[in-house]
Amino acid sequence: MSESATPETFRVVVLSGPSGSGKTTIVERLLREAPMRLVKSVSATTRSPRVGEVDGDAYYFLTLEEFQARRLRDEFLETAEVYQGLWYGTLKSEIDRARQLGGWSFLEIDVQGALRVMELYPEAITIFLAPPSMEVCEQRLRDRGTESEEILQRRLKKVAEELSYANRYKSTVVNDELDRAVAEILLLLQSQQNAA
Ligand code: ADP
Ligand code: 5GP
Repeated sequence: MSESATPETFRVVVLSGPSGSGKTTIVERLLREAPMRLVKSVSATTRSPRVGEVDGDAYYFLTLEEFQARRLRDEFLETAEVYQGLWYGTLKSEIDRARQLGGWSFLEIDVQGALRVMELYPEAITIFLAPPSMEVCEQRLRDRGTESEEILQRRLKKVAEELSYANRYKSTVVNDELDRAVAEILLLLQSQQNAA
């Protein structure tokens, strides 16, 4: 049974990592297994949905025009052009939603967005998820089979750059063996809950 967060114990958790590092897989496990209620922030994006991705669940899928309009209305906590021409952003309303639900707000966002959130929430729990190696990362992405070769190459190009940001995060976890990596993050979250 997860415990509710009070306004005093509310926390923001940020998880980043290169494409293929295992973020989606790990987040699914954390949402089920964490001792506190984690409320995943649903980001807005201008990329197209992958097979099985539902609007309002995986992301809010917006046109570029809708995205820009919401940005002009100051609805975003942060935005980033993660891949050329593809925008992603955390809506401020997503943080409020977590607060209202008595959970911790869980953001799975890229390194640029994470740096902005670190400025706004210095107390945020920040975790960088690293693949065991570049080769393993590429293989996992290929096995996932959700990207065309062109998009895959674009993502792989960014992996090294993203890895260079790991030291800006409070913790780095290597996703070698899934259960082990999940257990390490759960321990990290638990230690923060106890420190609250
Ligand atoms: P991301 O969301 O960071 O792009 P995914 O969670 O989609 O990454 O993981 C990429 C692929 O690697 C998926 O097919 C996933 O099933 C697989 N994967 C994730 N973690 C592990 C792991 N520890 N060992 C083996 N395969 C993994
Ligand atoms: P994907 O297209 O694979 O779902 O995500 C691509 C990248 O965008 C990942 O690095 C993911 O963390 C990042 N991302 C997802 N949502 C957001 C967001 O709201 N803000 C930022 N800055 N990055 C995001």
